[in-house]
Amino acid sequence: MKRGAKMTECIFCKIIEGTIPSVKIYEDEHVYAFLDVMPVTKGHVLLIPKTHRENIYEFSEEEAARLFAAAPKIANALKEEFDPAGMNLLNNTGEFAGQSVFHFHLHFIPRYDDTDGFQPGWLPKTSEFPSERLTELGHAIRVQLES
Ligand code: AMP
Ligand code: ZN
Repeated sequence: MKRGAKMTECIFCKIIEGTIPSVKIYEDEHVYAFLDVMPVTKGHVLLIPKTHRENIYEFSEEEAARLFAAAPKIANALKEEFDPAGMNLLNNTGEFAGQSVFHFHLHFIPRYDDTDGFQPGWLPKTSEFPSERLTELGHAIRVQLES
């Protein structure tokens, strides 16, 4: 599929077109935000670009800036309305990382307590990544960024 090509089989493109219903939270020229139909917690929102992009790798800098410009508005509205104890913003990129809808979306998951249903967590491998290894990895990534 060509970058930016219309993907009418995409469920989130259909939500933007209005052919699949959604509970709209926010919309501007470039982005659309709506309630997740299977929310993890009260106020679980998805923010998506109106132009089909499968994942972060496909964004231009301008597209990324336009998407993230809406994020503080949405986060503050959720904070004001629900007064959560915290909030997790996350994106799953690729099936292996848990992506199930292949139109980029940023999750906003207000957090209330330990039993609210969201289970973040990872196990830091500090012994595998001592500071010399981090220096090496940082260098390798910077080389990529500069190439
Ligand atoms: P992910 O697993 O990160 O790709 O997240 C996809 C999210 O999209 C899940 O949390 C689903 O509940 C949500 N979702 C799927 N279909 C719809 C829909 N029609 N309306 C709203 N949310 C949806
Ligand atoms: Zn799409």
